[in-house]
Amino acid sequence: MELEKLKKLLKEEKEPEYRFRQIYQAVFKNFCFNFEEMTALPEELKKKLKKEIEIFVFKLKDIKKGKEAEKALFQLKDGFYIETVLMRHKYGKKTVCVSSQVGCPLGCRFCATGKMGFKRNLNWQEITDQVLFFAEKEKDKKLNVVFMGMGEPLLNYENVLKAIRVLNDKDGFNLGARAISISTAGIIPGIKRLQKENLEINLAVSLNSPEDKQRTYLMPVNKTYPLKELILAAKNYVRTTKRKLFFEYIMLKDINDDRHSAQKLVKLLKNEPLFHVNLIRYHETETGFKSSEEKAILEFQNMLKRNGLGVTLRHSFGKEIKAACGQLATSQE
Ligand code: SF4
Repeated sequence: MELEKLKKLLKEEKEPEYRFRQIYQAVFKNFCFNFEEMTALPEELKKKLKKEIEIFVFKLKDIKKGKEAEKALFQLKDGFYIETVLMRHKYGKKTVCVSSQVGCPLGCRFCATGKMGFKRNLNWQEITDQVLFFAEKEKDKKLNVVFMGMGEPLLNYENVLKAIRVLNDKDGFNLGARAISISTAGIIPGIKRLQKENLEINLAVSLNSPEDKQRTYLMPVNKTYPLKELILAAKNYVRTTKRKLFFEYIMLKDINDDRHSAQKLVKLLKNEPLFHVNLIRYHETETGFKSSEEKAILEFQNMLKRNGLGVTLRHSFGKEIKAACGQLATSQE
């Protein structure tokens, strides 16, 4: 919602101070998306708000529905497009996978978003509205929110944190911090900042390789933040926050799915009980990479388990509508 603009308008109209909170709560707490239905507001003000303030800061252009996932395409005010995914879990819970940037500057080789290049950061309202959109559509506020859509959230730190605080606001949307996860490609300064925030959100690091040479090939950001420094930052994070840290590992056929990679991964992450590995099946895009065979994935998983690492093979959602990990990219410019 255009909250900053709303604040300004209410000031110009010399409305009492409580008015902002009233409207904010009507939208974020009570899910009233129509100014006319806000019965506590004066008629003149309702008309003005209807004319000048938009509750959603983007327009829905398309929605694709799959078996367990939906993917929405939104057009932003300056014409750019972003995608947001809703995933429905078997046990009833829903997760919204939000974008934090238009495109992404990090250019990971296996990722369709990386191929788009970087256009701009999203502002915090463009982030909160992705959640608000699906919460309203599903009439469900008890969502999980993961920053695993388009973009690197820790390169848009201020807006991502502001969006989290707005979603977390007890007098507003009231989404528990534990229901929120940020996934980073390994931006060390962002990880260091996050550990000082005193926020009980979850952090995931997209690792994908236990070797610098290979990781730099897959994720050029590794040149700036190499593995040794990244793992040290991750250790400091879990020791300070006492929270688990998840390492995402996309299984790429004949690249990072062999015994040797599993052994190296064990060596890199062992002896830290708060580290947990999430194995993710890769979904093919025009990047040319192939998904590991099921047998190789299970062997890899067993090897990590046998060597004492916490590991989960994640369920994939929405590959039939190109909504799975690494598949988000808008063809519109
Ligand atoms: S995987 Fe994430 S960090 Fe890498 S290019 Fe894609 S969106 Fe950016």
